Amino acid sequence: MIERNPVFTDAQVAFPKEQGVTMKKSDLTRRQFLATASATSLAAVASRAIPAYGDITKKAGKLAVLGGQPVRSKDKAWPSWPYCDDQVVDAVMKTTKSGIWCRIQSSSGTVPTFEKEYARLMGTKFCVATGSGTQALHTCVEALGIGPGDEVITSPYTDPGTIAAILSSRALPVLADLDPESFQLDPADVQRRITENTRAIMPVHMMGQPCHMERIMAIAEQHSLPVIEDACQAHLAQYQGRTVGTIGRVGCFSFQTSKTLACGEGGAIIGDDEELMDKCYTVHNHGTSRRGRTELIGPKYRMNEFEAAILLGQMAGFKERFQRRNENANYLTQRLKDCPGVAPQKLYPGTQSGSFYLYTLSYRREHFNDADRSLFFKALDAEGISLSPYIERGLHREPWIDHILNSRTYQKMYSTRRLQRFREEMKCPNCDKVCQDMLMLWASGPLLGSREDMDDIADAILKVYENRDQLSSI
Ligand SMILES: *Cc1c(COP(=O)(O)O)cnc(C)c1O
Repeated sequence: MIERNPVFTDAQVAFPKEQGVTMKKSDLTRRQFLATASATSLAAVASRAIPAYGDITKKAGKLAVLGGQPVRSKDKAWPSWPYCDDQVVDAVMKTTKSGIWCRIQSSSGTVPTFEKEYARLMGTKFCVATGSGTQALHTCVEALGIGPGDEVITSPYTDPGTIAAILSSRALPVLADLDPESFQLDPADVQRRITENTRAIMPVHMMGQPCHMERIMAIAEQHSLPVIEDACQAHLAQYQGRTVGTIGRVGCFSFQTSKTLACGEGGAIIGDDEELMDKCYTVHNHGTSRRGRTELIGPKYRMNEFEAAILLGQMAGFKERFQRRNENANYLTQRLKDCPGVAPQKLYPGTQSGSFYLYTLSYRREHFNDADRSLFFKALDAEGISLSPYIERGLHREPWIDHILNSRTYQKMYSTRRLQRFREEMKCPNCDKVCQDMLMLWASGPLLGSREDMDDIADAILKVYENRDQLSSI
């Protein structure tokens, strides 16, 4: 029934979203569905075969990879993800029976209802639901009139959907480097990369934690640029008294399965600017406005009623789960902050809470007797905790760059000089370092665990650190 998810155990694959779940199409009962859901997250985070769990002093002694007692047994389950309970199942069933499967069938269907609820929860006036986070971002780029010849500044350390949204409008994604401690866009480098053709800044709240919005907004205002927040990982995160996604002109979210609010594939745009949000609706509805006229260029990106039913079914405990992840993340950071071998993601002043879609740390090789990160992963995996390298290469090192530089469209729309400079300036050394040192725990499900689960994670990391002399014998 289940294909092992290669992501969390195989260092080749970057994205947790790729996790493969296949179910038998025939007679899948709800019980089986729930069991599958829970086994999936287990497959996602649990480690490979491990000897039986023993109650030996956890941090001392031999590393499990060399035959010692593992910190955590592979039989111990993690909270299941995606989240599913009777309410979610009932909501889908109700939509199925209602025959209202598409948002334009009823103004009181699940999609319009979800849009109202989500806007209220985020503290914004308007929301347009879409089929994915990528679609939400692309809709905003298009609605802001950004196209050929224009440039949008964003991060190289993100989901490919971020730049796909810019490329789909045939604009140029200009990648600025990172703050190596927060893994977020470095505002100073954003400033440096502004040109006369820059039309927007698209900061990405990586791991679900707010980026340095105070400085990014100041730069944007100074240059009169709109900010499109890529909050696809950052549902409910709070920064300086505001919900992330409501700080820029528009904010975009993803509800893809791995995210902290999930419906398989889904997305949303939020904002207070009525005219712009109305335009977003028109763009996402194949250019056809709420008034029924086909007015401009747009793809068809509507969310369907089943997706919104699942989201509405999950809303009840959404905030509680968010708080639990924050509590657990704070606890983990408390336990790990004094360990010289690892450095938890730096959060900026003004951060009141984060989404913790991912819980991340930097690996400090110099404090592990220069042991390669792969040895640390291997040792930790044997202790029963699987971390991932996450994004292996920044987007500045992916082949799309050659593709656009060689494409007829881009050669027509941008001067040879601009394209040449684009290539020359595609350097993000801090991002390279972040990719090299990243330790990522996928957190949507796992950070809903108990205090004991968190202790297992911290104990395993501290055990490998304390026994780092053994890493050279693996
Ligand atoms: C997931 C994600 C996206 C894309 O969202 P989809 O729903 O997968 O299209 C964009 N940006 C970031 C930062 C993401 O994590």
